[in-house]
Amino acid sequence: MPTVDCLVCGVAVDPETAIATAVYDAQTYHFRSTDCRDAFVADPGSYVGNTGTSAGTQRRSVDFERL
Ligand SMILES: [Zn+2]
Repeated sequence: MPTVDCLVCGVAVDPETAIATAVYDAQTYHFRSTDCRDAFVADPGSYVGNTGTSAGTQRRSVDFERL
């Protein structure tokens, strides 16, 4: 079963059982804890980074999924 790395602390997270998730720029991210999610939400751009798109036009919408 594939896992993803928590963007904040780097620990492997199973998306099926992740405690915390956030949707940023139409992409869903999974986190090991709500603390990690809060850190991500506070400044998502610094964790996701920009791949291709130029800075300044980036949408900064963050939505939460409550479990
Ligand atoms: Zn984490």
